[in-house]
Amino acid sequence: MEDGIDRRHLLLGAGGAALMAGVAPARSAAQAPSRKLGYAMVGLGNYATNIIMPQFANCQHSQVTALVSGTPEKLRKFGAQYGVPDRSQYNYQNFDKIRDNPDVDIVYVVLPNSMHAEYTIRAAQAGKHVMCEKPMANSVAECEAMIAACKKAGKKLMIGYRCHFEAHNLYAIELVKQGRIGKPRTVQSEHGFSIQPGVWRLNKALAGGGSMMDIGIYSLNAMRYMTGEEPTSVNARWSTDRTDPRFSEVEDRILWTLTFPSGVIGNGVSSYSSGHNHIRITGDKGWIDIEPGTPYDGHRMKVGSYYNGDPVEPPPGPGVNQFVGQLDHLSQCIKENRDNRAAGEEGLRDIRIIMAMYQSAADNGRTIQL
Ligand code: NAD
Repeated sequence: MEDGIDRRHLLLGAGGAALMAGVAPARSAAQAPSRKLGYAMVGLGNYATNIIMPQFANCQHSQVTALVSGTPEKLRKFGAQYGVPDRSQYNYQNFDKIRDNPDVDIVYVVLPNSMHAEYTIRAAQAGKHVMCEKPMANSVAECEAMIAACKKAGKKLMIGYRCHFEAHNLYAIELVKQGRIGKPRTVQSEHGFSIQPGVWRLNKALAGGGSMMDIGIYSLNAMRYMTGEEPTSVNARWSTDRTDPRFSEVEDRILWTLTFPSGVIGNGVSSYSSGHNHIRITGDKGWIDIEPGTPYDGHRMKVGSYYNGDPVEPPPGPGVNQFVGQLDHLSQCIKENRDNRAAGEEGLRDIRIIMAMYQSAADNGRTIQL
């Protein structure tokens, strides 16, 4: 590649994944490097069954060994499909018995947002490591309780920020660090889709909020990883048609501005009534644009200066699958007893900022110091 990026930085899930974590591996003799760690999938909905579970076939360090669902037919169907025996199938009532299952190392919580805290804490108390989907939880207090429970149990907690393992996003971060765009000045990101009525994402108690909790969080997280900085203040505005039956409880669109310590300004959009999927960071010498920026696949990235940009692909290499990267990263961190790059504290930072956005939007865009 013309940019001379070290390919090893992009070999995800193969031991070179410390790009953002910056931690040195320290292998524990108790962890056999060749053993695949066992994941228990909690919640057999769309993301778990259609997106995540098929990816275990591509993993080197991870496999599905247990299933948790309130629907017996789903347990039967996916148990047969993934070779998970009856003794490793649980419902929400007997879930805590997972403590006695030596085939389970990690519990992956893929439930509606309001259930993330409860199942993360129960999993930690059952002596299991936890992968929990984004958004981490519906409140700062819940996030803190999840971190504390995992710490107390001596277990790792990781949030399902798959984009931290996605090749275009990682390559963009690396180019920014190398000075390809000069000094970063602005970062923009928009995420949204038109939501269908009647889904749990529109129920405030289950979802914790509207588009910002679900899809806008990708923009917020991207602004933080693209700049490598933590924002110091935020202000936000929102617009929601309360006569639209979808939006009787949660927000539709929210626009926000973040200020970062270096002076970078971030502008974000989140929407449940229009389609967006875009990340752009601009410096005094150029810009990087990824659109779509955070899909499951099909990313397109351009790098340019002023008005002209050229399509750029990350260097090819094995393991550039964000899902496999995410799943195997936690398994490897457990085997090697090192920190993971999307720990609970990372999820908590986003939730803290989202809560400040809501506070600002409810107060006519007042600036909130973070
Ligand atoms: P889904 O509705 O398809 O699945 C949710 C599952 O939870 C279903 O199996 C449902 O039966 C079960 N459930 C248990 N109690 C429930 C209740 N009270 N109400 C509703 N469902 C209940 O949702 P999903 O799209 O799979 O999302 C699940 C989680 O995964 C969410 O936290 C979401 O933010 C996250 N997610 C992440 C990504 C990503 O790219 N990282 C993508 C999609 C979803």
